[in-house]
Amino acid sequence: MRLIEMEIARHYWQGMLCGCGSSGEHLAGDLLQLAGGGSRQEPSHVSLEEHVWSPVVLWEPAPAVTSVALAALADDVTPKARGWFLELLQCMVAGEGTDRGAARRGLDLPELCRNRAVQGLWLLYEEVMSNRSLGDAGTAFEILTVVEPDRIRLQRVREIAADWLPVCCRTGLCDDDLRVVDR
Ligand SMILES: [Zn+2]
Ligand SMILES: [Zn+2]
Repeated sequence: MRLIEMEIARHYWQGMLCGCGSSGEHLAGDLLQLAGGGSRQEPSHVSLEEHVWSPVVLWEPAPAVTSVALAALADDVTPKARGWFLELLQCMVAGEGTDRGAARRGLDLPELCRNRAVQGLWLLYEEVMSNRSLGDAGTAFEILTVVEPDRIRLQRVREIAADWLPVCCRTGLCDDDLRVVDR
């Protein structure tokens, strides 16, 4: 739990505007709860929808949350918590817009999140190849389809992991690469 606690402590959450309208201060506790740290030992789920992400926009804390999710993947969190952080990371890289306040300051939050997620490329490949959980391998692969600049490497891993990747990842239904090849 050391890495995730260190990464949570590194960010100035109070100074960020959360999607709920208050400061991002509560996110530090929420992320720790997801990981299962602090006073409560068991990880328990807490949704960050409408705080950090929505189907339409990301809010200011999103890049910091992306870094925390990567730290969680590198840490010794439980399999359940790993899955939650992978799903959270997927919401961060799949973001399409930036909330108005952050956009006015010239921030492109989806791009910032994707640039951070690329730094965890090999953590994501490890998640795909370990095949610890079918769902998690698929989620990690789908994050890679968004952030991996080397499409040939992605394609190689798609072939190697074909036996256990979900159909959408195996066939490329969840990304654009195979459709591009068809053209
Ligand atoms: Zn909030
Ligand atoms: Zn897929």
